[in-house]
Amino acid sequence: SLLSKEDVLEKAKEYDVKFIRLQFTDILGSFKNIAITIEELERALNGGIMFDNAVIEGFAQSKQSDIYLCPDPETFVIFPWRPRNGAVARLICDVYGSDGEPFSACPRSVLKRVLLEAERLGYGLRSGAEIEFFMFYMDDQGKPTTVTHDQAGYCDLTPVDLGENARRDMVLTLESMGFEISSSHHEVSAGQHEISLKESDALSMADNLATFKFVVRTIAQRHGLHASFMPKPLAGFNGSGLHLHHSLWKEGENAFHAPSHANCQQLSKTAYYYMGGLLEHARALTAITNPLINSYKRLGLDLAAPVLAGWSEQNRSTMIRVPSQRESGTRIVLRSPDGTCNPYLAMAVTLKAGLVGIISKIKPPAAMEENNLHGGLGKIIKNYGLPSNLNEALCALSANEVIKETLGEQIYSRFIETKEEECKRFNTIIHPWEIEEYLRNY
Ligand code: GLN
Ligand code: MG
Ligand code: MG
Repeated sequence: SLLSKEDVLEKAKEYDVKFIRLQFTDILGSFKNIAITIEELERALNGGIMFDNAVIEGFAQSKQSDIYLCPDPETFVIFPWRPRNGAVARLICDVYGSDGEPFSACPRSVLKRVLLEAERLGYGLRSGAEIEFFMFYMDDQGKPTTVTHDQAGYCDLTPVDLGENARRDMVLTLESMGFEISSSHHEVSAGQHEISLKESDALSMADNLATFKFVVRTIAQRHGLHASFMPKPLAGFNGSGLHLHHSLWKEGENAFHAPSHANCQQLSKTAYYYMGGLLEHARALTAITNPLINSYKRLGLDLAAPVLAGWSEQNRSTMIRVPSQRESGTRIVLRSPDGTCNPYLAMAVTLKAGLVGIISKIKPPAAMEENNLHGGLGKIIKNYGLPSNLNEALCALSANEVIKETLGEQIYSRFIETKEEECKRFNTIIHPWEIEEYLRNY
């Protein structure tokens, strides 16, 4: 749907829209919004809504104080769970400074900049996504617990499955908002679900991922449940990932497919170099794709989450998997990201790393299938391990010029600063595990 400003005004009138939420994300990926009334819509569409940057993480320490929201008319959507009369709609915005330039701490603008770089090289990025999350009960005070609705294994036993109903409601709501859902299913852990989004252009996907999280939480709440994208809420059980499918397209053709390539994998050089770039910058970009202390509890052995900065066709321990599909379906799947990342920044740094790989012809290491890990996993982890905690990832990020240039000085330094602070706070806390383990014995 290619909507112009005029279309938006017309639609808003036709659907009796009363409130419009202007949405954007902060550096850490929280979805923010400012609500305006219909009377303000035209002014908003012309980029006239100024806001106070001081409340938003990452925007706060900026020297620029006047910031403007510039809605993208193509993102106009009516919230289906709101009343028909006096409906609520939303528009996703880019943030601009008073100088008319994209604001330096606007993640959506960062992605647009990298997409433009790709375009200059003749490439368009298409992306699909598999998003995993848990649904938990809330306590009497409305505080989320880690008790899952299907903990007792009711799936086959009880006809009333809150999880199923909530998930179906999510899918229907997302579809009525224009999302294309390829599948949805219960995941491995109790209370864990997955919804997959069909591939689209990368900017729409990032917009959709930001919206997805907020819709899923809203619908879960309506079913008395809390939906969480926390990567590893339960020790010993599978965590939740956000698998991103990437393919580059050039002149209407999938540039990752190599029909006449002698190589039996039928992957183009472009695909190999793209993986080469991603793997070369893997440790640094992991700070962006896996931004929580908790993220690194998911990236461990045994539970289908990656630990290696490598690629393979079968091995779930590698960060990149190449599914067997070819022709227009040729793609790579980035398995390392989790749903707590800022989707714009995650998309931006992964695309940029891939492009750098193509430009510099970076060859990836050989495929790391389980049966060819000579010397064992232990040895290969030493050379190719993903960061084992947030601190390590931040160290790699601090030393990476490519990602620094991609994010821009402000987001880069603000992100590192905020996250180092988070690590410090974690390290000063005495965790229940320490009391349990040490208090009696020492
Ligand atoms: N939950 C796993 C992860 O964290 C993925 C499992 C799967 O989809 N097969 O990435
Ligand atoms: Mg899946
Ligand atoms: Mg899955």
